[in-house]
Amino acid sequence: MNDRGDCPVPDTHQKFKEATYFLRKCAEHYHDPEEFQFNLNAFIQALRNITFMLQSEPSKPENFESWYAGKQAEMRQSDLLRRFVQARNVVVKQSSLKARSTAWSGVFRRRRFKLGMQHPVPLFAPSRWVIERLKERVGFFLDEEHSQPWEQFGVHRTWVVEELGESEVLGLCVQSLNYVGSIVEEAHSFFGAEVESTAVEVDMLRTQTLLETDVDPSLVVKWGWDDAV
Ligand SMILES: [Zn+2]
Repeated sequence: MNDRGDCPVPDTHQKFKEATYFLRKCAEHYHDPEEFQFNLNAFIQALRNITFMLQSEPSKPENFESWYAGKQAEMRQSDLLRRFVQARNVVVKQSSLKARSTAWSGVFRRRRFKLGMQHPVPLFAPSRWVIERLKERVGFFLDEEHSQPWEQFGVHRTWVVEELGESEVLGLCVQSLNYVGSIVEEAHSFFGAEVESTAVEVDMLRTQTLLETDVDPSLVVKWGWDDAV
């Protein structure tokens, strides 16, 4: 989006960037429960602040109010956005969202699950801890030389936050941010400004899986795997 100082809704735009930042942090810390939840809380608040800012931007043209009233009515129809608004109220009252996590853990070939089991993950257990336990308990599944290229232990983790729905939560965050992003884009055109696409994407397979070589990239060389394949 434009950064040239001719943005008609600079406070809103800044909040949109803030929400995007925290969404990226959620993806980055998907396997570290505490950091994931801190960043998720921050995302939920930043997302809400985008629409608060949109309402309070100074120097709005005359017909802005009626345009925005229409958008508000539209947003109220969205179950997804309503759940994020309610979750934000939980977060600002300093209570906790009901988050839980499950995983497929075992042997992976590249990022595809090959052999193992699905199980709940203790709320504060990082995925690398799950990998360590696998190595201790079923390490014999893989030969020490790792002669099968790109076969290694890993975890495919899924976060669900009850207040936001029963599907994987980061995907819901992406959906909600893209919804609000499209309104921010519309606000730009409404004010006659050009804007680049606000669409945000997250590579969910990459985000949800943690492999031994993610934890320790030097293993790729140690095991003699060709990184380029
Ligand atoms: Zn802008």
